[in-house]
Amino acid sequence: MTTGASLEELYREVILDHFRDPRNKGTLPNPTGTFSGSNPVCGDEVTIDLVVEEGRIVDVAFRGEGCSISQASSSMLAERVVGMPADDSRKLAAAVRTMLQTGDEPVDDVGDLDALRGVAKFPVRVKCALLSWNVLEQGLNELAPAS
Ligand code: ZN
Repeated sequence: MTTGASLEELYREVILDHFRDPRNKGTLPNPTGTFSGSNPVCGDEVTIDLVVEEGRIVDVAFRGEGCSISQASSSMLAERVVGMPADDSRKLAAAVRTMLQTGDEPVDDVGDLDALRGVAKFPVRVKCALLSWNVLEQGLNELAPAS
């Protein structure tokens, strides 16, 4: 293990790919709810449209602006949680948050999101990566409250 993180390590190919070619970017015609958040420290903004039916996320779209970490994290979120039960996506959000805050291996299978783990070495950037997950959780708490 080397000490000290490099920027190259942070901007892994998978992050750049999501930044350049974001998934599920845009708006939905009839969202069940629309939720926004911002990270003033970096100037990141994210808005997420959600369609939630019977406790399941049926569709997701996001839009926003800001640094590559915030936008790539949003794209990865949007790609990952479509079709997922709200409770599972809440668990995923918790696993991603812990991973970002500790830099430890995720407790659940988070798939491609593991690429964001390097962000933990850059505390200022953790907020960028967490922004969309906070917005998602806020939306789920309103649309599909945990029982
Ligand atoms: Zn940012």
